[in-house]
Amino acid sequence: MSNNKPMPVATEISAPFWEGLKARRLLIQQCNACNHWVFYPRRHCPQCLAHDLAWREVSGAATLYSFTLARIPTLPDFADEMPQKLAVVELAEGVRINTSLSGLAEEQIRVGMALQPVFAEVDGKGNRLLRFTGVDQDASALEALPGLEPQVEVAASDVRRIDFNDAAALQALVSEDFSGWSNVVLVDQALIDAFAELSGDDYWIHTDPQRARLQSPFGGTIAHGALVQVLQSRMKLDLGFEITGFATQINYGSDRLRFPAPVPAGSRIHARARVKSVELLGRGTQLTLEINTHVLGQERPSVINDLVILYRG
Ligand SMILES: [Zn+2]
Repeated sequence: MSNNKPMPVATEISAPFWEGLKARRLLIQQCNACNHWVFYPRRHCPQCLAHDLAWREVSGAATLYSFTLARIPTLPDFADEMPQKLAVVELAEGVRINTSLSGLAEEQIRVGMALQPVFAEVDGKGNRLLRFTGVDQDASALEALPGLEPQVEVAASDVRRIDFNDAAALQALVSEDFSGWSNVVLVDQALIDAFAELSGDDYWIHTDPQRARLQSPFGGTIAHGALVQVLQSRMKLDLGFEITGFATQINYGSDRLRFPAPVPAGSRIHARARVKSVELLGRGTQLTLEINTHVLGQERPSVINDLVILYRG
């Protein structure tokens, strides 16, 4: 899995901290002159000014000093982990660390609660970030990269079969209400790059993460709208019905196609649909399906597609 979430850049002074996290160890500086614990990493002790700091491993036992729930992503790249649970955590040694909480529901989070470290894998290259969770949680289960949700398999017996000439049954499908969500699809930079090569649209806003981070209004690369549109083929819609009895099924195009919200690289998307209209015409039965594709947790759709399907006898 890849994403474009900003990663910390180790400096000569901070490198031991990041190397420690890779080994699932929490290393904090301590002053040899006055025993003061120091965080963030520095060259000298802020208490006695001695240039004599040593890296020492600590247990990570901590309490929650303060937190905030960010309901608007601090960067578009974080749209898939809303709300962001941003926290200031106080280690038993007394230093405070800006971090985020994982594995906790909003109502479980309390100032002063006991916490343990989570050495969260972030990129498949061994880099880890320091997060925290409650002491009663399974921290090791929270360390792995987030996987994709299992495919939605709808049991064949649960699907209503409707003949393509059954006007009354077809009209009854028309609804303002959307279906349940489909399976989840990851839109990572590798997929966006492959689509750029295939389509010839290699504009930097899609393909150059560094330039996009500096210059794009979205703070990072985003997927092509057309890519997100065609990824509908990878999503199993949870419609609950199946049209039968026809000889051919034709994608007749779209009555409406809009890209109202960006899909940042690294997003996970899913879709839902509703039957917008059904018409029995001389050339066949024409069914218009409104398919809305969203980034997980986002209310505003990224793609609205009124897809017209023609069933012919
Ligand atoms: Zn000191």
